[in-house]
Amino acid sequence: MHLVCCFLCLLPFLAIAQSDQIGGQFCQESKGLSSERRMANPKARIAYPGDATIDVTYYGLDLYLTHTPNYLRGAATITLKSLAPALTSFFLDLNSSTTTTGEGLRVDSVRAGNQLLPYQFSQNKLTITPAQPLATGQVLTLTVFYQGIPNSRDLGSFRFSTHERSTDPAIWTLSEPYGAPDWFPCRDSPSDKADSSSVRITAPSRFVSVSNGILVNTTDNPDGTRTYQWRNRYPIAQYLISVAISNYERYDTPFTFGGRTMPVTHYIYPEVLPLVRANLDLTPQLLTLFSARFGPYPFLSEKYGHAQIGRGTGGMEHQTISSMEEAALTPNVIAHELAHQWFGDYITCRDWQNIWLNEGFASYAEAVYAESTSGKAGYQSTMNAFATRARTARGSIYVQDISNFANIFNSSRTYAKGAMVLHMLRGVVGDSTFFRILQTYTATPSLAYGTAVTEDFQAVAQQVSGRNLADFFRQWIYSEGYPTYKATILSSTLANMATVRLEQRNAIASNPASFTMPVQIRVESAAGDTTVTVQNDRVDQTFTLPTRGPITGITIDPDNWILKAAEPAQVVVTATSEPVLGLVRVYPNPATDVLTVDFSTFVTGPVTLLLTNSLGQRVRMLAEPSLSPGKYTLTFNVRGLARGHYTLSIQTPNGSQSQVVVVL
Ligand SMILES: [Zn+2]
Repeated sequence: MHLVCCFLCLLPFLAIAQSDQIGGQFCQESKGLSSERRMANPKARIAYPGDATIDVTYYGLDLYLTHTPNYLRGAATITLKSLAPALTSFFLDLNSSTTTTGEGLRVDSVRAGNQLLPYQFSQNKLTITPAQPLATGQVLTLTVFYQGIPNSRDLGSFRFSTHERSTDPAIWTLSEPYGAPDWFPCRDSPSDKADSSSVRITAPSRFVSVSNGILVNTTDNPDGTRTYQWRNRYPIAQYLISVAISNYERYDTPFTFGGRTMPVTHYIYPEVLPLVRANLDLTPQLLTLFSARFGPYPFLSEKYGHAQIGRGTGGMEHQTISSMEEAALTPNVIAHELAHQWFGDYITCRDWQNIWLNEGFASYAEAVYAESTSGKAGYQSTMNAFATRARTARGSIYVQDISNFANIFNSSRTYAKGAMVLHMLRGVVGDSTFFRILQTYTATPSLAYGTAVTEDFQAVAQQVSGRNLADFFRQWIYSEGYPTYKATILSSTLANMATVRLEQRNAIASNPASFTMPVQIRVESAAGDTTVTVQNDRVDQTFTLPTRGPITGITIDPDNWILKAAEPAQVVVTATSEPVLGLVRVYPNPATDVLTVDFSTFVTGPVTLLLTNSLGQRVRMLAEPSLSPGKYTLTFNVRGLARGHYTLSIQTPNGSQSQVVVVL
């Protein structure tokens, strides 16, 4: 989903980007369940209501629609499996409320074959009693006959409307997140995807009726109506089933992939098509781009396309047929909704708390698109705009309160900060590993055409990168805020090294208190700059860094890989003209048996040498409770360690330094 209005609202923020970067001010939102408890037991999440004793495997909607008067007659055929032994009754979600103008739905009957099933319809539940109790795994197919004028909420549910530029009628749906039960009985949870679906629409014959999947048949009926029969053979979440009906003009821009041609079909209001045709023409090249970055388009046997709907809706990634208002038919929103076909439709967030797996990814895809057209500068400018919005985010990306639309689809948190998380992950693991993570995620059999939560994505990211990313996901998904860095240069008489104190002065108390991130520091001198990456994991840390000459300046995270604010660096002349930690020499490197470490300290205190593997696990440690200033040599036995890259770090009360060593 993409709210076009948010993009317009953004413009004032862009103007204050610079001052915001320095100020880093935002308010704190109350925290719900602690992330620690939630992480400890991921199964303890609050599931969205819906009958957990059933598993829906098929939705078949047969809809008869008129616009004069506005009216829907429906027959919803649902196949479901019992998940409980001896299931005597179960419920489907269906909105039972009636507005003061008498709008709403009524249920006429529920049938299984020729048999009428007893039901009760109240409080938004259609409770059904099967003829016999259902055993675990037993399948039941039933049809609910209903009619009325559906309720609408949020951006849509079900709307009888008109074009903006004419009085021609348009009828359309937009169910995300909670609108599906406003127009058909379902299990209203993204966790329960059906294996397939079909939508049959009968409406006045001057209309074109559009839905998911392939158009298998159209029939002209004697009463002046036309029936469109759409069939989708891929798994689908209830909120991705859609209907869009109007006097559309059809426009085709087919996509060829691996020698096969897939239809890409746009259903646009006739008066709008000439205005947006050039943008629609971009769709096949976007399909090519995202297939290369994310894996093959997931619905290749069917189609992709757009169906135009009413103003104020933005874009919505209905499976194989995104619904778009006119203002959303821009390259950026076309890219966003297309990316959702991978992230949202093919892999669906299992619950609305994890909506960033849909929206953060689709937003990030806008930067992938910018990178493809405008290179690194285009990518960075898109990400910098996201960063500006993300700094205003309140609360954790993991949505604590899913009770209302605005809180789930929060632009600065779910979209902008969600996109920044992927950008930061790319910064941590590097370009090629990052795109391998995305492609491995989409190729994971247990997630493909299914659902995911953050831990599923984290597991893939860890497996592909070989890194422990627990801190990364905990602080960026389950905590809030971002680090504000302050660097102080402690002057040194040595020309080839500088001591830098890096502090985090974070505006929001995060949990843990500091952010753990690899931070790039560019050390500037008249003889040239050096950029080094330090592992920053405390609010106050000192690093000894190599320089090419006397230090003239310093820049924290010069390429903006981190969502952060930075205070101006300061130069402080220390009382001692010596650094607190001398140059460390590690040899031989690569090592086979013994690793020798030479170092100097300039203050008295404890010194710890740590050797950690690529997962961040400690494999060797030497701790000296108190060392006087001087030169020291310590040795590690590295026999028996697995071949590979290790990090040797030396920590003193006033400084730390790390270096990569190879064990053969
Ligand atoms: Zn979206």
